[in-house]
Amino acid sequence: RAKEAGRGRYCFFEPEMDAALRLRKGLERDLRTAIEQDRLTVAYQPLTDARGVILGVEALARWSDAERGDISPALFIPLAESTGLIAAIGRSVFRRACYDSLRWSGLEVSVNVSALQLSTPGFVDEIEEILAETGAQASGFLLEITETALLKDSDGVHEALRRIKRLGFRLALDDFGTGYASLAYLRRHPIDKLKIDRSFVSNLSAESEAGSVAGAIISLAKSLGLKTTAEGVETQAQFDTLVKLGCIEFQGFLLGRPMPAEAIAAAREARLAAAGPSKVASRQRR
Ligand code: C2E
Ligand code: MG
Ligand code: MG
Ligand code: MG
Repeated sequence: RAKEAGRGRYCFFEPEMDAALRLRKGLERDLRTAIEQDRLTVAYQPLTDARGVILGVEALARWSDAERGDISPALFIPLAESTGLIAAIGRSVFRRACYDSLRWSGLEVSVNVSALQLSTPGFVDEIEEILAETGAQASGFLLEITETALLKDSDGVHEALRRIKRLGFRLALDDFGTGYASLAYLRRHPIDKLKIDRSFVSNLSAESEAGSVAGAIISLAKSLGLKTTAEGVETQAQFDTLVKLGCIEFQGFLLGRPMPAEAIAAAREARLAAAGPSKVASRQRR
């Protein structure tokens, strides 16, 4: 029987696996076409201080297909990573972010970089070429990498990170706490910021404050001289708890949804006006 043929083999005989494979192949084909036709877009989500003032934005890839509708990055990014299409997506998002950054002064623009890109020879050269082409400055950007990228811990990855830093980029560890990066990694690599994964923000409550993972990450970052951003802040209660824990940068639907580049300037002005010159979080929000 097919099942006895061993793992990975019998899958071919299961009709539902066949359907899943066809679905995946179709998605891959459409993604490839979308990339070739330059139809992926970029949305920007604000990163704010405790008053809600926008300090920076994160560039997030968006794919909207005429027939399929909006396809989540949670679906197409892993697909792109397993098919090598991520390199082309990464270039296109970074190029777009470079051009868009020219319209904002003083906003730090964060761009996601997948582990695969980082370990590809020539990646840093490409980044330099795009900077030259667009006239954007490396110092205006922060590159977000995941713990997985560091786990490879090859000389190639380490050297790529050094070069990126020398160009003037800042580096963040994304989704921090969900992977396996040890303290040693944090000290070995030139990381500037930890982004506390959404899962540690969503389970925050006033009662769990003291023993919270978010609190532990904030203290860890402080002792290592790193910045922190809390991801996925959705409620005022989460926000208030994070402020008490000493968090100084926030990202999430409470502070702002991902939006088109054109909407950022207006959101920025609205937030500045709302915050005023000297108000603090507790005064503004109670
Ligand atoms: P990420 O880098 O951790 O980005 C944050 C994700 O959380 C985004 O999802 C954002 O829309 C979502 N988010 C922000 N605030 C909230 C909130 O308050 N609640 C909830 N439930 N979600 C929130 P998105 O845009 O779907 O992207 C998912 C992931 O796909 C990203 O996670 C990132 O890992 C990857 N990704 C997106 N764009 C790119 C890209 O250009 N290159 C690479 N390599 N990866 C990308
Ligand atoms: Mg990110
Ligand atoms: Mg993240
Ligand atoms: Mg995340």
